[in-house]
Amino acid sequence: MKGVVFAGDRKIEILDFPDPAPGPGEVVLEIESSGMCGSDLKYYRAVGGAASLGFKMPDHPVIGGHEPCGVLVAVGAGVPEKQARIGQRVMQHHYRGCGVCPHCTTGWQQLCVEGVAEVYGATGHGAHARYMKCPANTLVTLPDELSFDTGAAISCGTGTAWGALERLGLRGEHTIAISARGRSDCRRRSSRAKWARG
Ligand SMILES: [Zn+2]
Ligand SMILES: [Zn+2]
Repeated sequence: MKGVVFAGDRKIEILDFPDPAPGPGEVVLEIESSGMCGSDLKYYRAVGGAASLGFKMPDHPVIGGHEPCGVLVAVGAGVPEKQARIGQRVMQHHYRGCGVCPHCTTGWQQLCVEGVAEVYGATGHGAHARYMKCPANTLVTLPDELSFDTGAAISCGTGTAWGALERLGLRGEHTIAISARGRSDCRRRSSRAKWARG
């Protein structure tokens, strides 16, 4: 399959990759929609690519895209049907942790006590390709009434904003004011907040 790689310095490469096959506990999604989050622009623009941002990179090009949404086309050994089944419409949360610590088991793999093993779309193959492999425990079912494009947006950017609103107990009828300091300070803060949640 072809995959899109953020090569740094505002360059994009389309390279050949083997079609993924699921290992134990893993699944393969056929991607229907793959979003572009603000964080992707960091990988796209950075001189030297994601490695220059402090990520521990593998020694091969990595497929970009961390807002995956699609349909399950392969399920690996040991994945119970209630967790993942062929044909299921899913969003994917783009971190892989140890899978067993208190944070991982409550859906916060980005806070894994062992350290994050992979950030899909940055240090592990993401969704800018036909297929993507990931652990079954990183999936979120996409309800039938939501489109794949909506699911992709929810997978990171919109989900991040929703998480903050949910914690504040805000609803559509509320009016809120958002203040920010200077532009560079604002960008630093928003970047930190985004990565804290995902
Ligand atoms: Zn993102
Ligand atoms: Zn963990």
